[in-house]
Amino acid sequence: MAQSLSPSQPTSPQPGAEELAWHHVSAQVVIQQLGVDPDQGLSKKESHARLDRYGPNEIKGKKGKHPIILFLLQFNQPLLYILLVAGLIKALLGSWTNAGVIWGVTVINAIIGFVQESKAESAIAALAAAVETEAMVRRDGQTKQVSSRDLVPGDIVLLNSGDKVPADLRLLRGRTLQINESALTGESVAVEKQPDLETLPADTSLADRHNMAYAGSFVTFGQGEGIVVATGLNTETGRISKLMEAGGSLVTPLTRKFDRFSKTLLYAILSVAAVTFAVGLGWGNSPLEMFEAAVALAVSAIPEGLPAVVTITLAIGVSRMASRNAIVRKLPAVETLGSATVICSDKTGTLTENQMTVQTLYAGGHHYDITGVGYAPHGELRDGEDNPVPSEALPLPLAQCLQAGMLCNDSELEHKDHDWSVVGDPTEGALLVAARKAGFDRQELNASYPRIDSIPFESEFQYMATLHQQDGPGQWLLMKGSVEAIVACCNAVLMGDGTAQPINRDHLVLQAERMASRGLRVLAFAGKAFHGHHFDHDDLKAEMVFLGLQGMIDPPRSEAIRAVEACQTAGIEVKMITGDHKVTAAAIADRMGLSPTEEVIAYTGKELATFDATELTNAVQNGSVFARVAPEQKLRLVEALQSKGHIVAMTGDGVNDAPALKQADIGIAMGKAGTEVAKEAADMILTDDNFASIKAAVEEGRNVFRNLMKAIAFILPVNGGESMTILLSVLIGRGDVLPILSLQVLWLNMVNSIAMTVPLAFEPKSFNLMNRPPRTPNQPLLSKPLLHRIALISVFNWILIFGMFEWVRRNGVDLGWIPADLSGDEANQQLLALARTMAIQALVAGRIIYLLSMTQFWASVSARLQGMKVPLGDASAIGYGILVAVVLQICFSQVGVMNFLFRTAPLNLEHWLICMGVSLPMIVVALIANRLNPQN
Ligand code: ADP
Ligand code: MG
Repeated sequence: MAQSLSPSQPTSPQPGAEELAWHHVSAQVVIQQLGVDPDQGLSKKESHARLDRYGPNEIKGKKGKHPIILFLLQFNQPLLYILLVAGLIKALLGSWTNAGVIWGVTVINAIIGFVQESKAESAIAALAAAVETEAMVRRDGQTKQVSSRDLVPGDIVLLNSGDKVPADLRLLRGRTLQINESALTGESVAVEKQPDLETLPADTSLADRHNMAYAGSFVTFGQGEGIVVATGLNTETGRISKLMEAGGSLVTPLTRKFDRFSKTLLYAILSVAAVTFAVGLGWGNSPLEMFEAAVALAVSAIPEGLPAVVTITLAIGVSRMASRNAIVRKLPAVETLGSATVICSDKTGTLTENQMTVQTLYAGGHHYDITGVGYAPHGELRDGEDNPVPSEALPLPLAQCLQAGMLCNDSELEHKDHDWSVVGDPTEGALLVAARKAGFDRQELNASYPRIDSIPFESEFQYMATLHQQDGPGQWLLMKGSVEAIVACCNAVLMGDGTAQPINRDHLVLQAERMASRGLRVLAFAGKAFHGHHFDHDDLKAEMVFLGLQGMIDPPRSEAIRAVEACQTAGIEVKMITGDHKVTAAAIADRMGLSPTEEVIAYTGKELATFDATELTNAVQNGSVFARVAPEQKLRLVEALQSKGHIVAMTGDGVNDAPALKQADIGIAMGKAGTEVAKEAADMILTDDNFASIKAAVEEGRNVFRNLMKAIAFILPVNGGESMTILLSVLIGRGDVLPILSLQVLWLNMVNSIAMTVPLAFEPKSFNLMNRPPRTPNQPLLSKPLLHRIALISVFNWILIFGMFEWVRRNGVDLGWIPADLSGDEANQQLLALARTMAIQALVAGRIIYLLSMTQFWASVSARLQGMKVPLGDASAIGYGILVAVVLQICFSQVGVMNFLFRTAPLNLEHWLICMGVSLPMIVVALIANRLNPQN
């Protein structure tokens, strides 16, 4: 109980809203109860102690299904019902071996499915978990970034626009803090928080507790600070943890197509089986024989191994993408990526290095240059005549412009192992470096002008502002941001003699554009004396004095340039979307070859806003640069592209990008620079924020799809060959001596198919994977050429099975393959077993050739024979698959138990050679199939 807790025991708090209605007591009480000094935060020792005590701050996602349920669910496939029923009838008829094998096969199938599904699910869950939330906390008086798992009650958490609230917090401070709590309250509009509300009535509903912030909600605006009152399962979200999404779902558009396909197949199979049954009876066969035939037909037509192969292929695709820095959050993205036709990418940090260096300045009517590269503060200031400008003699506007860059700045330079880097925004890092090169010291400057208030940078406003104490009259208000935003607020310009002259806006904009046309990112600076200790956006709107401009380079990433080119070869357009200046963006786009043939067409957000629907669609089609785009406009861009039938991949990092990320066919969030909101909305996360990783993911996506198609093209013809064999046997009145028995069919469809198909999922990428236009989405699972291929191979498979069976049956005795001392019936049984075994081995031999014909290895060898210089495809996975299949086939016919279970007969060398020999024409057939329906 809360009452029993006295402030004199600050180190043993008893957090949890059950004990105390945190919104109902004053901040002071909360602080006492939790035993922490808000300005210092917890000590390292104390936070460890509390972590031991309260456990990590995590909510284990929704408990997956119980393994037994998951296993049983594997039987819940229409195609398996047939097998189960068939086994049951066999058992009722007393053929126990038969029933046992059929059931055994369904169990093996379920085990394989179970293992695969749980593996894939845990792999996906692990990937999702890898994208861990970080939280900013104050501990030992310092601001630190820690994993949100390590938060404990009493921790002081700093919130920023875009953050996910990591635990339940009682707010202590905040500036225009808005939080979206839709996950908890269902209210989709963000609520404005009021940390200074001392107490609220105890029965205030969750949605109205304006002095609290709850785990799992998102900061959509502003900044704030709060004290952790509950973690993990004690949070409000933790209590209703059923709200938490489980890892990922294994359903994708493609698997849905498969489901529909297998349903259709089921009905087809049932009706054909019924017809078979009836026709057979008409020929005078016994119902029992016809039952066997109908079961064999049903079993032969079902591609039992396919579902397992689909899951494996998708799971492998996911892990390959992860190894190339693209983490898939939603499985359908694996497929959709392969059909992307447009990629809309951020500029800064994705297409460019985000390694900013200020190169040029404009202040007091003069231009200056700064030497040096990167974040190392080595370089010097030079004037227009290339003479050094000594730091003791900086003209006033130049000095103030540089000071503004250093003071109105939330980032830090870090010097570690001779390496300089930025903690925070690279744009701001560059400003710090520039000021340092000119001789300013951050600490000294901060001491002379302590910051008393600030408005953080938001893309929406395009500026940031800070208020500083100073010796002179009043306070010093500083602001930096885009040229348009700053110039609009100024009415004067600071000149070299210290006077403020009336502003000539056009002239300043022209200066900025001259910098921008060189691809420089331009920031403008302004300041004024201000009376007061707090300020608002309105205080910035007038009478600011323009201080100067700083232009910084941000070189394009060289790997991004190559990736853009690769995308274009693959028929994928790349468009740049940026908050930066149009001229800067266009210059970079030009350097990156975004529009390879013509001049880059660029639009600004302002222009887009004036367009009607048709104009917008045209602009979106033709333009390759969209500058000064407000996040809300990204959504319109995506919709306009989609209305033209495009499959759109879109990157984003900010809070306001979420709607566009959701609307895009593939929403891509930045792993480093991205906010939690963006990550949550995305289908995929780039761990390195690099455009080249998007290209890599597209490539993997295409490969996954191609490998799935290969698997289908490989598996289905065997079903085709088998069912044709059985159907035709019955139709010609030979239903009593089927060339292949249902158990043998199961062996082929399950054991042999899986051994040989799984390796297809590991097939290396084709050398021309990215030389082709994107796949049209929504194309049917079985395209016409693919159907032709399947039909062709099915017919050949049928010839192998039926032909081999008939030939051995007719000639086996004459060839002396059956011992002469057997009785007539026994000899006949032996002959049939031999004929069936040889038919199956011939089929598998043909299958091996067919498998090879679809591999990248085969394709690269034939390309080389035609004189093309292509890398040799790695066939090791296929090799292992074939090896396993061969060993299994040898057991199938040579091992006594298998002979008994599957009614096979041992083969001698002569038999084996014959089986291999008759399969050789498959080479020609496979070549024709590759012509009809190229696989690589
Ligand atoms: P992008 O990241 O696509 O280049 P942003 O929305 O981050 O676009 O930036 C838009 C504009 O806002 C920039 O061109 C720059 O002028 C200005 N800007 C960017 N970062 C800051 C910052 N930290 N402080 C003030 N202004 C900034
Ligand atoms: Mg940015």
